Amino acid sequence: MRKLIVANWKMNKGIVQSQQFAEELREYTEKHKITHCEIVICPPYTSLEAVHRKLDGSSIAVGAQNVFYETSGAFTGEVSAGMLKSCGCEYVITGHSERRSYFHETDAIINKKVMAVLDEGLKPILCIGETLQEHEDKITEAVIEEQINHCLAHIDSDSVRNIVIAYEPVWAIGTGKNATPHQVEHAHNFIRRKIKKIYNEDVANNIRIIYGGSITPDNASDLFSSNTINGGLVGGASLELESFIQIINSAKK
Ligand code: PEP
Repeated sequence: MRKLIVANWKMNKGIVQSQQFAEELREYTEKHKITHCEIVICPPYTSLEAVHRKLDGSSIAVGAQNVFYETSGAFTGEVSAGMLKSCGCEYVITGHSERRSYFHETDAIINKKVMAVLDEGLKPILCIGETLQEHEDKITEAVIEEQINHCLAHIDSDSVRNIVIAYEPVWAIGTGKNATPHQVEHAHNFIRRKIKKIYNEDVANNIRIIYGGSITPDNASDLFSSNTINGGLVGGASLELESFIQIINSAKK
């Protein structure tokens, strides 16, 4: 399976900076014929269309960082999956821990968002993972099992194939303290077993499970050398073109 490398810019970069990054990344991937991995850029909403225009026809996809689950109506400030599709999005991050903690998103809300994204034919990147306290209490498996059960409720085995699961231990996000490849492999194997239990072996073998949490050019090769880690969700280190390119290149076998 080709690795999937996703840039989550969070609330960073205006239109001009976003376009410049997209243009330079496209130039680099075309010049160096980068085909060993799939790349997704998730800019803020305001830069989605501009980035899409710069990347249209390239091998780099565009994703959103959030979505609202209703299709239209009186929901001031919200954006639907259909609107994201019309901006050229193929992927949508759902359930990021920053949305869970700052915006009180529950697994039930995230489940609705995942379904809305799937209904539009887009691919959700579903984030799950334990907090530091839960990690220290050694209840990681119970926590991610609960998140999977609720976030994937009502989703059948055909639809679930379009979901990317991002295992993002909250204690590793933006902290400079990444989980070790061994810890990630352990969690990914648990998630895959859980998917097999809910769906079937074929779904479990083919669903993409990526890791996120302080990925840098220094630790990316170690993380990506594992076959159980199907790619990475990169926050801070995706903001600089050079470090993001180094991470992309670390995904080469
Ligand atoms: C993220 O935003 O999903 C993330 C993993 O951030 P960082 O790489 O900065 O830890």
